[in-house]
Amino acid sequence: MNKNENKRYERLSAKSKGQLIIESENVLQEMQQKFENTIPGMEYFYDVAKQYAGGQLKNPERKKYIATNCIQVPIELIYAANALPIRICSGAYSMSQAGAGLLPAKSCSLVNATLGTIYTNSFPLAQKPLTIITPTTCDQKKKLSEIPSGIDIPFYTLEMPPSKDSEEAQEYWYRSVKKLKGELERITGNRITRSKLKKAIIKVAQAQRAFRHFHQLRKEEAVIRGTDAILIANTFFYDNIDTWTSHLVSLNAELEMRKSRDHNGSESRYPRILLTGSPSIFPNLKLPIMIEKMGGSIVADEFCSSNRLLYDTVAVDEWNMYDMVPALSDRYLKACTCPCFTPNNDRERKILAYIKDFKVDGVVYQSFSGCQLYELESLRISAVLEKENVPMLYVETDYSPDDKGQLATRTEAFIESIKNNL
Ligand code: SF4
Ligand code: SF4
Repeated sequence: MNKNENKRYERLSAKSKGQLIIESENVLQEMQQKFENTIPGMEYFYDVAKQYAGGQLKNPERKKYIATNCIQVPIELIYAANALPIRICSGAYSMSQAGAGLLPAKSCSLVNATLGTIYTNSFPLAQKPLTIITPTTCDQKKKLSEIPSGIDIPFYTLEMPPSKDSEEAQEYWYRSVKKLKGELERITGNRITRSKLKKAIIKVAQAQRAFRHFHQLRKEEAVIRGTDAILIANTFFYDNIDTWTSHLVSLNAELEMRKSRDHNGSESRYPRILLTGSPSIFPNLKLPIMIEKMGGSIVADEFCSSNRLLYDTVAVDEWNMYDMVPALSDRYLKACTCPCFTPNNDRERKILAYIKDFKVDGVVYQSFSGCQLYELESLRISAVLEKENVPMLYVETDYSPDDKGQLATRTEAFIESIKNNL
C-alpha cells in the first residue's frame, strides 16, 4: 500500500470498528430491553458478545489462534495443536460495508462481512490469526483468498468434496482432514499427539453435550427465546470453550428450574417457528428478533451458526490416531447439511424431524441476497413442506437495516395467518 492508500485503509478500519461496537450494542440493548422476562444466565453470553464486538476477547494464556470461516473446519485439531479456533464468519453490517468494496456487487452479506473483518483487522482478539482456514464449501467463500486486497494473513484452503455419500467423497475428505492436521502442526510448531487429540475431542464433546441438553430443554416448552439461543451458539465461535460450557451448564440448570415452575422465557402459546437457511450471526439477528417481536416463538433452528454447529458429536471407538482422525472426518462430513452438498437429502430429513419433535407450526427460510445455494435449495424445501402442510415464509434479505419495515409486515402477516389456524 502506498501512503495515501494506507491512510484510507486506516480511516476505513477505525470507522468500521467504531460502527461494529455501536451496531452490536444496539442489538444487545434491543434483546435485553424490548423483551420481558429475561433470563439472568444470559448476562454472561451478552457480555461475551459485547467483548467480541469491541475486539476485547480475553486470551490469558496468550495462545496462538487460527481463524476459521465455516462450520466445516474440525476445531478439535486446532485445540490439539495447542491453538484457539476462532470462527470469523461475521454478521456485522459495518463489516459487510467494508468488505463490499472489494467484492462483486452481488456477493452475499456474510461473505462481504467476513472479508471486511479480515481486511479491517477487526478480529475479536487483539492479535492477528496465524492463518485463515477456508473450506471449499460455497464458491464465494472459497474465492476469498484470491481477492486482491493486500491482506497479509495466509489463507489455507481446506478441500471438500461436493457430495458426502459416496466412498470416494469420504476418502477425499479424510485425506483433506489428515493434510490439515499436518498443516496445523507446521503452522503452530506443535505436534498433535494422541493424548492431545483425545483431550480436544472430549473437550468439544462436553460443550456439545451441554448444547444438546439445552436443545432438549426447548423441545416441550419455549423456555428461552430463540434469539437468545442463537446468540449462545454464536458465542461458541470465539469464547473460551471450558468457560462457555460451564456457563451453558448453569443456564440449563436455571432453565430446568423455570420449566418446573412453569415460568417460561417465551410464551409457548405463540406460533412455534423453525428458522432455517442462511445463518444468522450476531449482530445480524434482524430476522429472529423481528419474528419474536411479532409474536412468533423460535423453538428451533437449522442454522450452521447454531444447532448444526454443535449438535452432532464425534463417535470414537478406539482412542488411537487411526480411529480418531477418521471419526473426526466422518462427523464433519456426514452431519453437515449445508446446501453446498448434492444430494442434500439429510437437510430435508432434519427439518422434518425438527418440525415433528418441536411441534413446529411454521418455517421461516432466510436466504441472503446473492446466496444461490440457499436460494436454490429453498425450492425443494418449500415443496417438501407444502406436501406436509407446513406453512413456510421465504425471506430474501441482507445485513442492511433498510428492509426492516418490509420484514415486519411480512413476518407479522405470516404469524397472524398461523395464529388463525392454531
Ligand atoms: S452456510 Fe455452508 S458454507 Fe456457509 S458457513 Fe455455513 S456451512 Fe459454511
Ligand atoms: S450464506 Fe450462502 S453465499 Fe453466504 S457463505 Fe453461506 S453458503 Fe456461502
